Amino acid sequence: MRPSSTSRVSRVRAGFVLVALAAIAAGTPSAPCPRGLRYVTRAGKKLVYLNEVARVYNLRLRKAGQKNLSLSSRWSRLLFRENSRELTFNGVRVWLNAPLYRAGWRHALDYADACWTLDPLLRRYAHLQRLRCRRVVLDPGHGGRDRGARGRRGVEEKAVVLDIARRVRVHVANAGLKVYLTRESDRYLSLDERVKKAARWNADLFVSIHANATVGRRGRGVETYVLAMPGFPSTNDGHRRRRGYSVYRGNAWNGANLVLAYFIQKALLDYTRAPDRGVRRSRFYVLKEAPCPAVLVECGFLSNTYEEEKLLTATYREKVARGIASGILQYADAVREAARGSARVSR
Ligand SMILES: [Zn+2]
Repeated sequence: MRPSSTSRVSRVRAGFVLVALAAIAAGTPSAPCPRGLRYVTRAGKKLVYLNEVARVYNLRLRKAGQKNLSLSSRWSRLLFRENSRELTFNGVRVWLNAPLYRAGWRHALDYADACWTLDPLLRRYAHLQRLRCRRVVLDPGHGGRDRGARGRRGVEEKAVVLDIARRVRVHVANAGLKVYLTRESDRYLSLDERVKKAARWNADLFVSIHANATVGRRGRGVETYVLAMPGFPSTNDGHRRRRGYSVYRGNAWNGANLVLAYFIQKALLDYTRAPDRGVRRSRFYVLKEAPCPAVLVECGFLSNTYEEEKLLTATYREKVARGIASGILQYADAVREAARGSARVSR
């Protein structure tokens, strides 16, 4: 392994200073990369070899078939695929910023994924320190003249997501957290008004709730979005890395966003048994501008007849709501634990 040159190190430091500045501007801390994690530079990319990840986190690196690799411990199992952005963490799909590269006989991750995807999953408390989780803002998408997606049987996204948000509120409020809804009725609300409300309420957490639609009818499953990282494409974009993907306010909570999304996606899968489309990355307005850790949940596809039928039933909407609520409450527990100063490797 070639050690990084000083200029490269200082460039990385400059990168961190930027992220740290963004975090300070937003009034919250950002967690550092684990101390001692070494990277190399190849063709302009900062990479971390998987055996280096294994060393730092005390994981076992193994080949799992032709193109798959696994990193595992008693508590965690990560599965990677060569040239793919797909990672499976303890059975849940999480999309990386960049694909797993092959560098000679070894495999490597982008440095940003090591610090802001793997680290929040493996050391979640480090990313939740000094955060609170007392005021939860739920944001049912669309409303009024903006109907959102529409199923073939006429189910409208705006109605489905309002019902789900109300159900989530019951469970989260029962656990003693304060819950606000950006809209209580079928009325139009701009994206800007939604994040402004969250700021006014001093939100500690923002969860936008939506349902999907595609042109085809085959798309199925649940997915949870976090704000994409500066410099990297959205999950739904191609692999190409472009310049100009700026830093947004929401990037101050990259680590916390990922922890929250993971808990919600995992719980949603447990409650609904729906196909796992994973924790994904995008630049939705509410994620860019939220004043706190934020995710956007897509609860299912109205364009898919099977899922539309399910979302028509109160029983299924209740399952979705319990999943989202359970994810929020697990996140709240983790934030409390982090506040107690627990910095042990998480499960
Ligand atoms: Zn929507």
